[in-house]
Amino acid sequence: MITDKKTKIVATLGPASANFDTMTDMVKSGVNVFRVNCSHSNPEGIRETIRLVREVNEKNNFSVAVLADLQGPKLRVGEIEDGAMLTTGNTFILTSKPCVGNSERAYLTYETFARDVKPGERILLDDGKLMLEVEESNQVDTVKTRVIQGGSLKSRKGVNLPNTKISLPCLTKKDLEDLEAALQEEVEWVGLSFVRSGEDIRQLRGEINARKSLAKIISKIEKPEAVEDIDDILTETDAVMVARGDLGVEVPMERVPVIQKMIVKKALAKSVPIIIATQMMETMMENLSPTRAEVNDVANSMLDGADAVMLSGETSVGKYPVQVVQMMRNIIVYVEENANFHFLDEHPPTKDAGDRYITDSICYNASKIADQIGAKAILTMTHSGYTGFKISSHRPRTTVAVFTANRSILNMLSLVWGVQTFYYDKLGSTDQSFADIKEMVVQAGLAKKGDRVIKIASMPIKELGMTNTLKISEVE
Ligand code: PGA
Ligand code: MN
Repeated sequence: MITDKKTKIVATLGPASANFDTMTDMVKSGVNVFRVNCSHSNPEGIRETIRLVREVNEKNNFSVAVLADLQGPKLRVGEIEDGAMLTTGNTFILTSKPCVGNSERAYLTYETFARDVKPGERILLDDGKLMLEVEESNQVDTVKTRVIQGGSLKSRKGVNLPNTKISLPCLTKKDLEDLEAALQEEVEWVGLSFVRSGEDIRQLRGEINARKSLAKIISKIEKPEAVEDIDDILTETDAVMVARGDLGVEVPMERVPVIQKMIVKKALAKSVPIIIATQMMETMMENLSPTRAEVNDVANSMLDGADAVMLSGETSVGKYPVQVVQMMRNIIVYVEENANFHFLDEHPPTKDAGDRYITDSICYNASKIADQIGAKAILTMTHSGYTGFKISSHRPRTTVAVFTANRSILNMLSLVWGVQTFYYDKLGSTDQSFADIKEMVVQAGLAKKGDRVIKIASMPIKELGMTNTLKISEVE
């Protein structure tokens, strides 16, 4: 699928957008990946939404990817009486015994809570608007806290425990059911919320492998433990999301911009795609234009090196799901044309890549040569998507045109910076394939007579081996 920008847009589906016509308009306006937020759905709803994306793809010949975003160990309070108000300085009880909450107590969806918390730890409610401090626990089901910052509390608001070592598994019963449904529908990307360590990713990978799925993993970084363990997480994961909503509650929010830059830099060095998420165009939930600060945030996230920027409430429940995508696309196109994105010489191939060393070296040098000679495109045929990720991570100025016979890989690559995807299923002679894919790039308007293009491939093509060839040619 051909897009007119390199930075990709992820848009969350919800009541405001999950219908054929709106989604079609959103893709035409610049969406590359649709996110299904499992927190607000169930297996049946997840299946239905994924099928809708497939229908939009098929009828329009799009290759938008689906990201099924699992809730993970997200904590919430239960039902709360209307008008409940927590007063600063008062005592407040949290319990794991189901009850209807009020101004004095609330149920928390976390069985072993009373055993995990320690006096002095902070508890944040409703995105950090309210704050409690643990005073004592009966070690069974009841925790007494002091209200540090009061306010009104409503049903099912989120709870964050930034200081507590939470013993819950990374995949809850709901997550496993949601995952089953998403994998049966062959989603390209699975997101995991509240990742704490590389071990969480190994567990999710185990579940995915056990179901013989090729779905790739996006680790959402939104806990201080994950920031600490970022190196191991980046080694295990396929992509990463800077989930600034919860992250800004779990760590003091002034740290988030610095953490964002640190994660982007480390992820790029490992060729791991990065999504920047949350409140990017928040004002457009209600208004037809964003704030200047929001425009700056999108532009600066791109300049940091993000592969994709994400819309959440803006497209799931906001008033203007199509216009917000158009606005985001306008910012992206302008910044890409006018700011200086240049070849990233920061992670040349290393011998410890083992088998992949030669492939890595060809991807790196193809990107470098493309910038040097002003080639219009780098053409790569892939069956796993690997070379697409690698070339993209060097951020060449040129188009990265990826050809594959696997629809699922084609969709999956829609998330990756600068990648244009083409369906190509012939396994003829190398010369014939090269001629075919060059013609496809010309047909798509990405190169014209006299332009130089670079092709990388594994020869002979039939053997589907490692990349071993780099060829520069001119479009006749
Ligand atoms: P969420 O994740 O929208 O699923 O909470 C993103 C974030 O926390 O920023
Ligand atoms: Mn979150």
